[in-house]
Amino acid sequence: MRMSTKISKLHLQHPFKIARRSTDSFREIISVEIDEGIGEASPTKFYGETVQSVEKIVNRLSGTIDIDLDAIQDVMAHIDENISGNNAAKSAIDMALHDRLGKKLGVPLYRLWGLNPEKTPITSFTIGLDEPDIMAEKALMADEYPILKVKLGNPNDFEIVTSIRRVTDKPIFVDANTAWSAQQSIENIKRLSDFGVELVEQPTKADDIDGLKYIRDNSNLPIIADESIKCAQDIPIIADAVDGINIKLVKCGGLLEAIKMIHVARVHGLLVMIGCMIESSIGITAAAHLTPLVDYADLDGNLLIKNDPYNGVTLHNGKLILPKSPGIGVVPVLE
Ligand SMILES: [Mg+2]
Repeated sequence: MRMSTKISKLHLQHPFKIARRSTDSFREIISVEIDEGIGEASPTKFYGETVQSVEKIVNRLSGTIDIDLDAIQDVMAHIDENISGNNAAKSAIDMALHDRLGKKLGVPLYRLWGLNPEKTPITSFTIGLDEPDIMAEKALMADEYPILKVKLGNPNDFEIVTSIRRVTDKPIFVDANTAWSAQQSIENIKRLSDFGVELVEQPTKADDIDGLKYIRDNSNLPIIADESIKCAQDIPIIADAVDGINIKLVKCGGLLEAIKMIHVARVHGLLVMIGCMIESSIGITAAAHLTPLVDYADLDGNLLIKNDPYNGVTLHNGKLILPKSPGIGVVPVLE
């Protein structure tokens, strides 16, 4: 299996900030090609990866695997046996293998899995942390997106939500990105539900499972775990502590693992969201193909950048419209 990589910079429309990280104005991503297939990773230091670490893993594996590439399960199992962690690197490889197989068979990914493309949800659109009036302005500019995901975790969280509520009555999801204590979360969630907030993501620290359960047991909004879970084996540990999970390809190691996570989550009666990092249309479209299986999509990474190198999934009144061309179905944007 020969692989090639390319590192590129995605420039953001607006500087992007969340509770546990400083402001970013660009994001480095890495694409991986295997024959006709292309995949992508947007690694984060929070999960211990960089574009350089992904490049290193891909280069190390390139030319070393002598397995039928159509048997993606076997290829990924082989990689898992030889390399622990490095899920962003694995995700890029898994994505390129799926794109390659879809193109070879002449079917889009959703068809490869027997999914109904009409069943895609509406994606939420993220408003990054900023001054309350600027966040309200961004909410106003996000006119075409029916659901907002508002990043919180600042001392002035309620000023932010009040400002946004002044300009829109759309459904709001909030994401505290681990910033609140358990007690603070309960008080905040009580107030947020009065503002018409519908869901709360990762209120407290990633490893604070007891805290999450305490919050869930004392709150009336669905609590979704993001930083607390990476892959399928993490789900049983957290299943009684939250209402749902947020799956991301770069966290879990790719499409195969994401599918496994969806099914494990369903066995535990959990809600499922598919989320993303700042990614190009390659990563976002690959994840979008899975959305007929989930309750919530938060696939807006490609909407937050100004130099998306590919066209892929589109939106119609916020609903994800999957490309019908084979594989992931992305095509390069003509310069
Ligand atoms: Mg999140």
